[in-house]
Amino acid sequence: MECGSLAAAFLPIGTAPHGEAGSTKRMAENLAQLRVLNDEVVACAKCPRLVKYREKVAREKRRAYRAWEYWGKPVPGFGDAQAQLLILGLAPAAHGANRTGRMFTGDRSGDFLYAALHKAGFANQPTSLHRDDGLQLDRVYTTATCRCAPPDNQPLPREVSNCRAYLERELEILKPKAVLALGKIAWDAYLEILKQRGVIASRALYKFAHGAEAEFAPGTPRLFGVYHPSQQNTQTGRVTPAMYAKVLHKIRRFLEN
Ligand code: SF4
Repeated sequence: MECGSLAAAFLPIGTAPHGEAGSTKRMAENLAQLRVLNDEVVACAKCPRLVKYREKVAREKRRAYRAWEYWGKPVPGFGDAQAQLLILGLAPAAHGANRTGRMFTGDRSGDFLYAALHKAGFANQPTSLHRDDGLQLDRVYTTATCRCAPPDNQPLPREVSNCRAYLERELEILKPKAVLALGKIAWDAYLEILKQRGVIASRALYKFAHGAEAEFAPGTPRLFGVYHPSQQNTQTGRVTPAMYAKVLHKIRRFLEN
């Protein structure tokens, strides 16, 4: 059903020009670097367990998606090449991003997240159905700690570790002002990078909670945390649109100052 060109899939979509001096040049440089990175990500096979699983799911498919040509590969980051906010999720869902090939696209978590981003003014539409649906993000780039769908949505520590270098390169290219971690695993993944770089002494000093915020040395992106928008959380009311709206409003104010 949906199978946009590979080039289009790897191209992080920017938005209307940001109108700042030098922004066109920076946009072009970031796009070029993200293209190289995303080509590497999509070809990655460092985690044998995940390679086997993502391909098995893509072959067998869910009954409701039988007509789809599943992506079945690592899912590259998606969003604004001049993003100020990097949103860090856990991993692609087996029948969500592993099917559509775009972060948080085609599952309930994505429905919740993009609706919240649209309401907060970070996305041009509230829905995210497939790679050619016209979705554009404004000042936001979405990515994950682990870019292959894991069994039971649980990547192993070594798989998160294998994938860390890709996140580090996204941070280096985009130089965002803030990182929003969706859940504790993403929160810890970002802190681990800061620890390995000597920015912080210990992850234990920074407790994860919905609405948590951590500030580091100047020049280091500020960390915000929210509970993951999993179906289990959103259906039980542990996570509500109002909770996301409050945090996104706070982040917007931070970015604008
Ligand atoms: S999880 Fe990351 S490191 Fe492992 S195979 Fe997928 S893209 Fe590669």
